[in-house]
Amino acid sequence: MTQQSALLLIPFFGGLLVAAVLLGTATRNILPRSAMAIAALAIPIWVVYFASSQGRSLLASQGFLGTMPEALWFGLTFGVFTAAFFLALGYIYGDAKRRRLPAWAWVIAAFLIPNFIGFILYFVFRAPLLGPCRSCGKPIRGGEAFCSHCGCSQGSSVGRMAADNRTI
Ligand SMILES: [Zn+2]
Repeated sequence: MTQQSALLLIPFFGGLLVAAVLLGTATRNILPRSAMAIAALAIPIWVVYFASSQGRSLLASQGFLGTMPEALWFGLTFGVFTAAFFLALGYIYGDAKRRRLPAWAWVIAAFLIPNFIGFILYFVFRAPLLGPCRSCGKPIRGGEAFCSHCGCSQGSSVGRMAADNRTI
């Protein structure tokens, strides 16, 4: 394995880790199915692309060796990374929706702002999770002292704040 191929292990395992964490949230219906479908398709598409003569000449022009095993490995890494990226976009979409935030605006921001800064901004600025009112059960923002629907006092906000800190 060349040094270039070995370096690909970092995005490969990084992407796998992110994908595994995000797929773990799928059971709570946060991830849209479309994001999972795109993520699943990304891996075979990139593997086939980089194994093709066009993909291999692109790799060669970027200073990568164009042998078939290297091309397959590069395609697999790129595919895993792309899959993790789309799962992360899907997570932002689902998470923003349950927090009553403009989901598409955040997805577009995360997609367009380079170096994952859009993702970071989302996790810094996202609103607290909505929880049920103690009295009427309608969704209200965590940490609010009174329900905006029925006006019922929510008592201590400490427990709610703790609940909000369960991030993923
Ligand atoms: Zn209420």
